[in-house]
Amino acid sequence: MPDETARPEADPAQSPHDSAVERVPAEAPMGQTLMRGWRGRCPRCGQGGLFRAYLKVREECPACGQSFRGLRADDGPAYVTILIAGHLAIPLMYWGAEWENMWVSVAAISAVVLVGSLALLPRVKGAFLGVLWRSA
Ligand SMILES: [Zn+2]
Repeated sequence: MPDETARPEADPAQSPHDSAVERVPAEAPMGQTLMRGWRGRCPRCGQGGLFRAYLKVREECPACGQSFRGLRADDGPAYVTILIAGHLAIPLMYWGAEWENMWVSVAAISAVVLVGSLALLPRVKGAFLGVLWRSA
């Protein structure tokens, strides 16, 4: 299947590691790059992994060689993750307030929010990086 998001190769005299911006295809749909990032995949090809560890971004895509240098999500993913987890916690707190043992409800809600946050954070960061890569 041809890579629809590929653009003609950059100047071969220039290193592919110079910038994350150099091979960004202008025609790549934002939703597609966002979802590829959400799945932890390269926003350009969707094949190579975006992360080499839990939140550590690879320097380049192992499949297509797209450089990820210069893509910095900073605190954005943490902010969005807290926003989502907080909105999940509020209905749980109303539900947990009816339990007999308050400490059991606090422990259960805390565990759900903690596990949910840890699961969301790399996905949100990947989505951020996909959008940043597309917008660069
Ligand atoms: Zn790739």
